[in-house]
Amino acid sequence: MRAADGSMPSLPGESKIPWGIMNWTDLSGKILNGGRLDRSEAMAVLQSSDDELLVVLQAAFEIRRTYFGRGVRLHVIRNAKSGFCSEDCSYCSQSSKADTAIERHPLQAVEAIVQGAREAQQMNAVRYCIVTSGRQPVETELDVICEAARQIKREAPIQICTSLGLLTPAQAQRLKAAGVDRYNHNLETSSRYYGAICTTHSYDDRVATTRIAKAAGLELCCGGLIGMGETLDDRVDLALALREVGADSIPLNFLDPRPGTAMEGRTRISAMEALRTLALFRFANPDRELRVAGGREACLGPLQALALYPANSIFTRGYLTTGGQGHTADLALIESAGFQVAEITDA
Ligand code: SF4
Repeated sequence: MRAADGSMPSLPGESKIPWGIMNWTDLSGKILNGGRLDRSEAMAVLQSSDDELLVVLQAAFEIRRTYFGRGVRLHVIRNAKSGFCSEDCSYCSQSSKADTAIERHPLQAVEAIVQGAREAQQMNAVRYCIVTSGRQPVETELDVICEAARQIKREAPIQICTSLGLLTPAQAQRLKAAGVDRYNHNLETSSRYYGAICTTHSYDDRVATTRIAKAAGLELCCGGLIGMGETLDDRVDLALALREVGADSIPLNFLDPRPGTAMEGRTRISAMEALRTLALFRFANPDRELRVAGGREACLGPLQALALYPANSIFTRGYLTTGGQGHTADLALIESAGFQVAEITDA
């Protein structure tokens, strides 16, 4: 029953924004007409109540459908070099500061990386993401990655993304010349909160690499990790910062706290909160690829399909150090929700 002012009564633990204070259809209309999400609107998305969730998702979907139809882009990620990392990112099981039971290995050989691209293509992935642990690549590692990229491009039309840490301009140019299409480097969280999750490099270091990648002509994949103890303001900051750095693709990860990391024992955010956050990133970055990335299964559980309303991309098969629900289940998820796997020509 509504209060006299028309708002719904709030329950303990519920957000304070009264139901109906925002007209979500008007918001999606404004954005589709070229308007930009402002900070107060962004905060209203995150503070909207669970009762409004489907209306918020529908408004985000109107934007997603305008730019991407009902297609879902599949990405396949490869952990080409795992563990032994000098950095202290507190969420990461590959940091040498973490005491984790992951598989660790040096950079894989060219043939193994190329074989991974063949497997990705068989899964109808539009993009193959080659990831290495570490602060930054050394030149001999770049030799391997560039040779793998050249061979993949000779064989298959699949798009290539690499995620190798901090880059120099010369390294970014080498990747571009070898046929790499896109570079991933996440901002992870807000500028304000970054120092609380990592001390071995800075938020500004990360922004600098995003600029270097773009200056070399690489598309920029740049997103973040939600649920590390950041505030709603931090999430808004991140969504707006990704707009400012010109991210072409935004992977949004949800913390699935790994045993042995500094984040062990944290509570995952709720599926509802994750869905509102995805909607925020769609409103803030309307025509950008938005991927519901790591933590999808763990955080969203049976509500995974709802993530496809704001997001138009997923990682299929699994992640860097954790498995996913598998490719077959991912396809069933997409089909059962009435979406389709996007063709490589749609990437
Ligand atoms: S730099 Fe990358 S691999 Fe190293 S700890 Fe940070 S997130 Fe993990």
